[in-house]
Amino acid sequence: MKILLLNAGSSSLKFELTEMKNEKVLIKGSCEKIGSKSSFIKWKTAQKSIKEKNIYLNNHKEAFDFIKNLLLGKNFDKTFEENTIKLKDLSEISAIGHRIVHGGKYFKNARLIDEDVIKKIQELTELAPLHNQAGLNVIFLCRKLFGNSIPQVAVFDTSFYFDMPPKAYMYGIPYEYHKKYGIRKYGFHGTSHKFVSRECAKIMNEDIKNLKIISCHLGNGSSITAVNKGKAIDTSMGFTPLDGVIMGTRCGALDSSVITFIEEKEKLKPKEINEILNKKSGLLGISGVSNDDREIMKSIKSGNDRAILAHDMMDYQIIKYIGAYSAAMNGLDALIFTAGIGENQWIHREVICESLSFMGLKIDKTLNKEKILGETGEISDKSSKIKVFVISTNEELMIARETVKQLNPKNSEKEKEKEKEREKDNVGVYSPSPSQ
Ligand code: AMP
Repeated sequence: MKILLLNAGSSSLKFELTEMKNEKVLIKGSCEKIGSKSSFIKWKTAQKSIKEKNIYLNNHKEAFDFIKNLLLGKNFDKTFEENTIKLKDLSEISAIGHRIVHGGKYFKNARLIDEDVIKKIQELTELAPLHNQAGLNVIFLCRKLFGNSIPQVAVFDTSFYFDMPPKAYMYGIPYEYHKKYGIRKYGFHGTSHKFVSRECAKIMNEDIKNLKIISCHLGNGSSITAVNKGKAIDTSMGFTPLDGVIMGTRCGALDSSVITFIEEKEKLKPKEINEILNKKSGLLGISGVSNDDREIMKSIKSGNDRAILAHDMMDYQIIKYIGAYSAAMNGLDALIFTAGIGENQWIHREVICESLSFMGLKIDKTLNKEKILGETGEISDKSSKIKVFVISTNEELMIARETVKQLNPKNSEKEKEKEKEREKDNVGVYSPSPSQ
């Protein structure tokens, strides 16, 4: 059974075709910088290494058409023809799994896409305008191309956080705003945190129900999640993916008065301040160099103080989250680093772990330096009280597995029923008991 996975970002479209019989990736890649003159596609197959081609992609539809032709090995120059998989027909694809960023209060699990699911994703575009809309557009493109013959499944970033306790997801603002607008912490990167925490339990040969884990997904977007007994009990991202530690271009946690202060002083509209906090802040805003950690690293080597500050801030904030979540769980068994920075930039891991020696955490510095380029493994010293792992995240595989699960009518019907019950009971919207 072949599953196509599509992950639409605001200006990107990632894809992966997996043979589920052996969970083998047949082809994977991404269209990047969609809508700009410098857009390009990169991809690789099981046999061929990464190829990259500049190609003007005006919008997600053009990117989608391009991916379709790549899968079929059609109408291309030699680079494409010789380096793709050439499906005989699109009907070889059994189902499509979509990564959808925001599932709000609705989706505790993945769902087979029907009109109701589409309506809810649409409603939630208000909370994740760029991502949810891009996801919807791609769902519609698939419907147009495949008709209703191929099932489509939505897998939500927020689902892993559905059962977080209210004390973790509520904000200290007037309660009516929570009821009226659904303002609460939703959490993101859930698919990645769920995947790596389960991998961690497997590596440790332990039942996840016995483990207290903190996973650090550090990439262009970063989040830290506390996983107690297999469930996410708190996470650094919030109502939107802007909260938490400083990221490539996002500011992370901020005293909210800073926002109103800048708005007033600079006479900015909400959209403009949003743009600053999402696109011009974080590592880029502090260093003035780049949002890319590799570029920051180069600048640090040439003595750039602002680049050094950007790194120091990031590491310091991560350390504080790890400390806070260890306290929240009253202990810690394992710490995980994952995603672009977490899997590659060993220097952050070293700095962060050295600050946690008070907890009895110790890494093996040589092992730590060796774990780069997507290699999974343990980096803790034998004497460490807390295990430390670098685990290569695989959101795509997780999405493919969830997609297959929802293809079973028993599972999808059960999920639909449970969702209706939750809606009736207003689950995900906190209601104090009558005595409170
Ligand atoms: P992600 O959002 O997970 O793709 O991560 C992007 C971040 O990871 C960027 O800041 C990159 O600098 C960093 N990164 C990705 N790959 C590498 C690598 N091979 N070596 C060092 N840093 C990397």
